[in-house]
Amino acid sequence: HVNVESSPNIDLDDIFISVKTTRKYHETRLRLIIETWFQLAKDQVWFFTDHEDEIYQNLTNNHMVHTNCGQGHSRKSLCCKMNREFDFFLSTSKKFWCHFDDDNYVNIPTLVKVLGDYHAYHEWYLGKPSISSPIEMYMNAAIMSLEQTKKYSKEEEKRRENEKVKFWFATGGAGFCISRALAIKMMPLTSKGKFIAIGDGIRFPDDVTLGFIIEYLLKVPLTVVNPFHSHLERMDHIDTEIFRDQISFSYAHIKDDWNVVKVVNGFDTTKDPYRFYSLHCYLFPHFEMCKSLRLR
Ligand code: UDP
Ligand code: MN
Repeated sequence: HVNVESSPNIDLDDIFISVKTTRKYHETRLRLIIETWFQLAKDQVWFFTDHEDEIYQNLTNNHMVHTNCGQGHSRKSLCCKMNREFDFFLSTSKKFWCHFDDDNYVNIPTLVKVLGDYHAYHEWYLGKPSISSPIEMYMNAAIMSLEQTKKYSKEEEKRRENEKVKFWFATGGAGFCISRALAIKMMPLTSKGKFIAIGDGIRFPDDVTLGFIIEYLLKVPLTVVNPFHSHLERMDHIDTEIFRDQISFSYAHIKDDWNVVKVVNGFDTTKDPYRFYSLHCYLFPHFEMCKSLRLR
């Protein structure tokens, strides 16, 4: 008997990495990514945006996907982009889909290493919640209509309106990964615009909608993977000694609060306010731009 599942290891090329972005962030957030971690996964990373941009098409070797989704921060535009990312993944033969925001730094070698622990032929929803308890919403007709298990009588429907729906979701701003087996299971609910309709039905953002589909409707639990980080966490709480073991980092600057990774002896803060160049040089000192630094 041949064990067809004998090799759990995967290559970078088995992963489809999508980054959600928007017109106004091309010159700032995207540039930062292109000059740092994108260089380690040029063939695997695709940017999902809302505006044709010839300059960035060239800089990314034509890896900008113009989604035709709206440019705003509205639920519809964001769910629309997520739906495009999902459909793109399905059109490939990659084993994992990993989504990130354009304010994430992705430590590519560690992402590959961690995914090696999971088998793409099993259903995996990997990520990290940013809240300490599951999200709760009241049952409604829209939710009941999505449950495929059975039809309810009018009386049962009325009774169920008082029920609470609880589920976990992976924070989009920390990044998450979904195995091919799970994506195939999601297909009837998610592909070709259905994701947008579900988001509209439950009136929650794209990452919550994804959690709702996977955890609540499909009953595949979120597997918490701690090395994902969004700017909802304090970035300066991540110790330098464990940078290498982390999958993602982020940044946020709100008024006086600079929530950024702490890299000692990095570039000047005027040159690198969000610390991603410094972090990149800490992790990959052989890059040309890092030659002037002595980080380790
Ligand atoms: N974004 C977008 N359209 C917008 C605003 C934001 O597609 O009009 C994307 C942005 O590029 C990022 C994600 O949505 O990948 C989250 O945006 P941001 O970090 O600005 O907000 P947050 O939700 O983290 O507060
Ligand atoms: Mn953000």
